[in-house]
Parts: sequence; structure tokens; C-alpha cells
Amino acid sequence: MFKSAAFIFALVLLGLLAGCTTGSRPNAAPPTVWTLTNSAPNLAPVQPVPEKPTPSPIVKPILPAKTNLPTPALKWTSLNRWAADHKLAQPTRVVGSPVASYAITSSQGTMIVEIGSREAMWRNVAVHLGFPPELVDDQVFVHGLDLEKNLAPLLLTKPIRFNPEHVLVLDPGHGGNKTGTISVRDGRPEKDFTLDWARRIQTLLSTNGWTVWLTRTNDADISLSNRVSFAETHHADLFISLHFNSSAPDKKQSGIETFCLTPTGMPSTLTRGYSDLWTDHYPNNRFDNENLQLAVRLHTALVRASGEEDRGVRRARFMTVLQGEQCPAVLIEGGFLSNPHEAAKIESAEFRQKLAEAVADALQ
Ligand SMILES: [Zn+2]
Repeated sequence: MFKSAAFIFALVLLGLLAGCTTGSRPNAAPPTVWTLTNSAPNLAPVQPVPEKPTPSPIVKPILPAKTNLPTPALKWTSLNRWAADHKLAQPTRVVGSPVASYAITSSQGTMIVEIGSREAMWRNVAVHLGFPPELVDDQVFVHGLDLEKNLAPLLLTKPIRFNPEHVLVLDPGHGGNKTGTISVRDGRPEKDFTLDWARRIQTLLSTNGWTVWLTRTNDADISLSNRVSFAETHHADLFISLHFNSSAPDKKQSGIETFCLTPTGMPSTLTRGYSDLWTDHYPNNRFDNENLQLAVRLHTALVRASGEEDRGVRRARFMTVLQGEQCPAVLIEGGFLSNPHEAAKIESAEFRQKLAEAVADALQ
């Protein structure tokens, strides 16, 4: 019941959102209920990102029934207490760090959180939190949603395993008239590089027995909703959308970003001017943990193999192609075509092969 309502909601949005970088979506009324159960009374209550007033929307997004989703509990918890509750060693202050940072370790690895910063480090790659941790009476407090949606899936959960039995759907971004961004060097379009990257991954994994489908195998303009339904009809177990980035006209930004959908209740890392309603949730919200694990695994491999800057595992809500997926789904931005140095790399087949091998290796 919820799934179908949410899927309709996603389809409504699919109809509204035509591209991945431009436009804005109609805002629904800001949330009126925002419960705060604050176990740290000195902390300032965290509010959802305020909505900018906009003209009355022509089409109101239909929010699915909330009955099947828990209301996000806004509960700050001492990291010491959380560690004790989960039988982990007490967090330790990171010595020599210029800002107050604390490390928490489990058998799965170490996460370092920094006071006042949403950027945490998990096994040496950046993972963006929803809320900056706070220091109260010499104790680190982390938001309950971050504990549940960012820390627990990494520190307390065994990593998901993939094997050739799984069906992978790769989604080369853009196509046809939708060129995506263009290389600052010579104007070559993103759509060509994403297709080439996908084909290389497909070759690597197919030879190892994987079933790999591409949402497009030529220069076709496939709608975002058709990419989502393609994954569903091909019974995808994993969905990976491949893109290259742009910060034009700024030529300086560089590096790799990996996105998954923002869990309900959490502010996104990136909004690109879209509203970021904390109430928004999608059918694949039930894969919050797997999305993050998949994103972290791919991101780690890509950053290490490419040597490019680590811009972190990030959260966004507006990425239509991730909404409504019936399996874990992530979107990778494999470098900036607006950066001349990085564009030169992306234009080389050798570098794209490296990116493809990183993805294939991460999954095997
Ligand atoms: Zn793109």
C-alpha cells in the first residue's frame, strides 16, 4: 500500500523533474510537526533546512501515507553512551588534529567525527553526516538519525556481499539531446564518457559471470522514469548511475563524489536549489543501509584507484533516477569535466578503464 503510494509520488516527481542539474521543484508546505526529544539540553535544536517562500505550486506533491514509516526521532545521543550500548570501546580524542575529532572503532573499522562538521571519515574516506556533532560537557553528541543511518550501517553491520548471481543495472547518464555537461577542454559531452565507462564495467563483470544490463547502449535519450522502470523489469539487485561532474564556470573543483538518497528526516549534503523536505521519502528508502554500504564501497575503490580528491559519500533527494528504485541504488560523479586537468584524464581511455576496474573490483 505504502509502496504503491510512494511509487506514484515518485512518478509524479519524475514527471516534474526533467534534468539532473537545473530547474526547481514545487515546494510543499513546510513540515508543521517537528518533535524534539533532546537528551542534551544545552544543544540548540536542529531545524530542517528552512523552505524559501515560493509562489503557489501548480502541482502539489502528493505525500504518501506516513503510517509505514517511523517519525524521525530527533534525539541527540552521547557517543560514549551509544558505544557502550553497542559494546564498543569508548570513543577517543584524535591526537594532533587541529579541530576536536573523535574516533570510534568496531570490528568493521574506525569512524572519525569532527565537532561542528558534517564531514566524517570512515576507513579514510569521507562520509557526509546529516548533522554536525556537538561537544557538550566534554562529551560528543551525535544526532540519532546519523547514529541510525550513517554510523550503525558502517560500524555495526556486516558489509553486504555481492556475487555474480546478482543482476547489475548500469545507467550511463544522459544521452541523445541531453548531452550532460561538456568537457572544458574541447566540448566533448558527458554522455559519451558515461556510456564508455558503463561498457567497460559491463565487459569486466560479464567475463566473470555477472549479468549486467545498461539502461542505454547507444546515444539514446532515455527518460529518467524509463531508467527506473528498466531496472525493475530487469530485476536489478543493484543500480549504479554513472556521471561526470561540472562546477562551470569554476574550473578549480575536482574529485569524486558518490551519492545515495537522503534518509527521511535528514538534511541533504547537496540540494542544487531543490527543496529538501525532510518528510520526503521514496520506495527505496528501505535500502538506506545498503545504499550507504554500496556507496562507501564503490567510492573507496574509485578514490583509491583514481588518486583523485575524495569529495565524499553524499546525500541528495532530488536525484530522480535513484527515486523509486527497488534495489540499492547509487549515483557516481567520476570527476569534473569543468576542471581542465581532470577533463584531460576523463578523456583518456586509460583513466576510464581505471574507473571501470575500480567499480568492478569493488563489487567482486
Ligand atoms: Zn550527469
